[in-house]
Amino acid sequence: MRCPKCGSLEDKVIDSRQSKEGRVIKRRRECLKCGYRFTTYERIEEEVITVVKKNNTTQPFDKEKIIRGIRLASTGRPISEQQIRQIADDIERYLIDEGKLTVSSAEIGDMVKSKLKNLDPISFIRFVSVCDNFQDIKDFESAIKQMEKDKKNDQGEKD
Ligand SMILES: [Zn+2]
Repeated sequence: MRCPKCGSLEDKVIDSRQSKEGRVIKRRRECLKCGYRFTTYERIEEEVITVVKKNNTTQPFDKEKIIRGIRLASTGRPISEQQIRQIADDIERYLIDEGKLTVSSAEIGDMVKSKLKNLDPISFIRFVSVCDNFQDIKDFESAIKQMEKDKKNDQGEKD
């Protein structure tokens, strides 16, 4: 926290108290540079991430939707429910950690793709086909070619 007096970012917490409902934390701080004491209030807020869809409409981030999408793509494939949830959790955590409160559905799609690609190529291709709205078999062929190419590149980087 920035010291209101000298602007230093280094301080120590002398005392922390929670509000009765536990939603606000009051902290007494002391600036390590000038010794000034000040109080901060931290509010616990639900992070609301907004997803911008292709047609520019927005909707709140919904982890269950990601889970449903992956589940559908991985039907009958050796991917566990836990692995599916892990992907969705990882994406949510990444967005929160990065402070990304607005994200496009395409970005989310790309994140799922990159995780699925390593997990199971068949589920990956199925997911891509829905995500990118494949129209015919040629779309599948080019996606598979691209995947093989990426694979070679990945291996190339490791060597
Ligand atoms: Zn200070």
